[in-house]
Amino acid sequence: MTDIYLYNTLAREKQKFVPIDPKNVRMYVCGPTVWDYAHIGNARPVVVFDMLFRLLRHEYGDDHVTYARNFTDIDDKIMKRADDEGVSIRTITNRYAKAYVEDMATLGAMTPTIQPKATEHIPEMIRMMQTLIERGHAYEAEGHVMFNVPSMENYGRLSRHSRDELVAGARVDVAPFKRDPADFVLWKPSSEEQVGWNSPWGRGRPGWHLECSCMIEKHLGETIDIHAGGQDLIFPHHENEIAQSECTHGKQFVNYWMHNGYLTVDGEKMSKSLGNFHTVHDLIAEHPGEAIRLSLLTAHYRQPVDFSLESMREQKRRLDRWYRLTDGVVAAADVPTSVIEALKDDLNTPKAIAALDALATPETAADLKAGAQFMGLLAVGATTWFQGEAPEGISVADIEAKIAERLDARKNKDFAASDRIRDELLAMGILLEDGASGTTWRKAD
Ligand SMILES: [Zn+2]
Repeated sequence: MTDIYLYNTLAREKQKFVPIDPKNVRMYVCGPTVWDYAHIGNARPVVVFDMLFRLLRHEYGDDHVTYARNFTDIDDKIMKRADDEGVSIRTITNRYAKAYVEDMATLGAMTPTIQPKATEHIPEMIRMMQTLIERGHAYEAEGHVMFNVPSMENYGRLSRHSRDELVAGARVDVAPFKRDPADFVLWKPSSEEQVGWNSPWGRGRPGWHLECSCMIEKHLGETIDIHAGGQDLIFPHHENEIAQSECTHGKQFVNYWMHNGYLTVDGEKMSKSLGNFHTVHDLIAEHPGEAIRLSLLTAHYRQPVDFSLESMREQKRRLDRWYRLTDGVVAAADVPTSVIEALKDDLNTPKAIAALDALATPETAADLKAGAQFMGLLAVGATTWFQGEAPEGISVADIEAKIAERLDARKNKDFAASDRIRDELLAMGILLEDGASGTTWRKAD
């Protein structure tokens, strides 16, 4: 059994993964702020770290991995949306949390073991702030509770930012009551009309960073194995999580930090004004979730990935091929070693996909199915997959029957019959493609 190696952002190198307790491997991924539908960029960490969850379960056993992914259900964006619609924040957060769970399931992401909500952890947050104040790491000022950055000697070691960058990053809300310009908010006051909770420092609500530290403490413990998220979270979010948790507990917070790279769409940063903005909700209305999932896995998770409708269609065609090959085939009992080995090397999904392609032959279809299903693909039957795919006037089953008939004709060297079947199908808008791994079909363009 080979070891798992993961790139640890903290050390800036690939390291052998050694869990604190192999009977309970603990991982946490920062979840969504539920004020709107998730976009395709939000889906990338969900899909790549779902792959990690699957790998850890395979390695340590399904019951020995705890995966927590939170919902940030209190935030100024949520409050604004609730205001605009004239509804409670709960109406907004329930709506988008539900859509998120459904959308991510459509992308083949397994349900995390725990999905805690920030607003259900207010007492834990108050306790953590009290500890931080007692220990001289936080202070109250004008209804706020602030974390005092200079109180932590090694603050900034995850992002490796200079003092100037730290100050610039914290400038989002310049406030005269800050003791140091790099100090950040743990708690802020709420007005009468705003949603808030009672605290020793008045009625208010938590800052974003504090939530994750408290949910991790409560559900996973003071030191955990893996904490993951998008690379845009390294600073300030993850840096501040480290500050809060390590200054509260006086011990290392996370052993392995993992971050996925950026996602562009059609080669550009996604934006509503460029017209290249895709929510997962819209995409899955028209495209299979597995094609989206496979598109997101074609690049290594630390590299940038470019998403486009064309790249997704290309992955759809790859899945079509795999579905045809594995139709009626029982998956092998074991996940192919080539797939597992690729993933153990810092989640090398492009290599794992290449391993699946190498197994895309009639002789190895059972292995292909086992490997693909392990990666969250080929999860439905071929009939379901191709449903509604055939042009008018012919069913998928009929097409497959014609292909089988043509194969027989070719075996009997009856090439006239073989060509006739091909032409008949073409007249119905179906293009046959003969390849090394057999005959596949697609709708003619
Ligand atoms: Zn977080």
